[in-house]
Amino acid sequence: MQNIANVVIIGGGIIGCSVAYELAVRGVKDIVVLEKQYLSSGATGRCGAGVRQQWGTETNAILARDSVKRFEGMNEELEYDMDIEFKQGGYLMVSYTQNEWNQYKKNVAIQHRLGIPTKMITPLEAQEIVPHLNINGLIGATFCQTDGHANPFHVVDAYYKAASRLGVKFETYTSVTGIRREKGRVTSVQTTKGDIATSLVINACGYAAGTICEMAGFELPLYPQRHQALVTEPVEPCQGPMVISLHHRLYCQQTPHGSFIMGVGDPNEPKDFNINSSWEFLEDVARQATTVLPLLKNLRVVRQWSGLYDMSPDANPILDEIPDAKGMWVAAGFSGHGFMVGPQTAVLLAQKILGQESFMPIERFGLDRFRTGELLREPAVV
Ligand code: FAD
Repeated sequence: MQNIANVVIIGGGIIGCSVAYELAVRGVKDIVVLEKQYLSSGATGRCGAGVRQQWGTETNAILARDSVKRFEGMNEELEYDMDIEFKQGGYLMVSYTQNEWNQYKKNVAIQHRLGIPTKMITPLEAQEIVPHLNINGLIGATFCQTDGHANPFHVVDAYYKAASRLGVKFETYTSVTGIRREKGRVTSVQTTKGDIATSLVINACGYAAGTICEMAGFELPLYPQRHQALVTEPVEPCQGPMVISLHHRLYCQQTPHGSFIMGVGDPNEPKDFNINSSWEFLEDVARQATTVLPLLKNLRVVRQWSGLYDMSPDANPILDEIPDAKGMWVAAGFSGHGFMVGPQTAVLLAQKILGQESFMPIERFGLDRFRTGELLREPAVV
C-alpha cells in the first residue's frame, strides 16, 4: 500500500465512494479509499435503498431532490456497465393520526416550495395506488411519483468503477487504527497495513465515524443504532410504491424481482454496535406490516438482517471539518437516509473542500448547530 496520499477517505460505503468520485472528477489526484471489509459491507449494503424527497426539513429535501436527478442519469453519468436499477414507483406516506397529518401538511408545503411534486391525497385515492392498503382510520396520504428505490450494491459499484478509472485507489480489508495530528492539523492515518501521510482525511465511516473522530481526539454527537429488515419470497407484482407509515414505524416496498423488503424502527433500541437479528423484530414488523397492508399476512420470510444507523441529534448529517484536526472532514450522521442523499452530499462536500461555489450552504450541516442549539430537527424519520 502507498505510504503518502493527497486525500485519504475512510469508509467504502455510498458516502466514501461517491466523495472519492466527486473529488477525482474535479481533478484531484492521488486519492485512497480505506475500507475495513469489502465495499458496501456497512449500512449501505444492508439498507432498504429507498429514495424519497418527502422530507420535513429543507436541508434533507434539497439533498434528496437533487440526488434523485443524479440517480435518474447515473448509469450514463458513471458509464456503468450494469444497471443501478433505479425504479421510480413513488413513495406513499400514509397518515393514521391527526398530529401526523398536520405535520405532513407542513412537510408538503416545504416540498412544494422546492419544486418536489408531492400530492396530498384522500384514503380512497391512496387505495387506488395500493389496492391492499388498509384505509380504516386512514386520514390521508402524500404521494410523490418520482421517489423510488435503487440497488445499493450496484450504485456503490458504479461509483467504485468510475472513481477507479479516474485513478482512485481502493484498499479493502484495511482498517484505520489511528489518526496523527501535529499543531492542530492532521498529518497521517495509521492502518493495519501501515501508515499513510496526508493532509486531507474524509471520515465517511457511518456508524463508526464517532470512533474515528475519537482517534483524532474529538467527540462527535453521533451514536450507532441497530435497524433490522427482512425480505420475503417473491410474488407477482402488486405494489408499485414504497409505503411508509411513521405511526407504525414501518416502511415496505416490493422490489423489481417481486420480493418485499420491509423494516420497522424501534425507539427503544439501545445506542450500541449490536447487529444481531432478533425474534422480537420479526413479531413487531409482522404486526405492523399486516396492520397497514393486510394482504401480506401469508408471505413467507426468506431472510432477516440488521445494520447500524449513524444517528445525529437532529437526523440531519454532519458535514464539517474537525476543529482541532484541521484537514479532517466528517460526512456522517445520516440517521437512516444516507443512501438517498449520498450523491448530492458528495458533490456538496467536494465543492466545499475544493473551495468551489456550492449548490447550497454547507454551513447548515456544521457542528456549530449542536453548540448553539439551532438544530435542523427532521420530523419524517422512520
Ligand atoms: P456505511 O455504508 O456504513 O459505510 C461506512 C464504512 O466504513 C463501512 O463499510 C465500514 O466497514 C467502514 N469502516 C468502519 N470503521 C472503519 C475503520 N476503522 N477503517 C476502515 N473502514 C471502516 N438509507 C436510505 O437512504 N434509504 C433507505 O431506505 C435506508 N434504509 C435503511 C435500512 C436499514 C436496515 C439500515 C441499517 C440503514 C438504512 N438506510 C437507508 C441508511 C443508509 O444505509 C445509511 O445512511 C448509508 O448507507 C450510510 O452510508 P455511509 O457510506 O455513510 O456508511
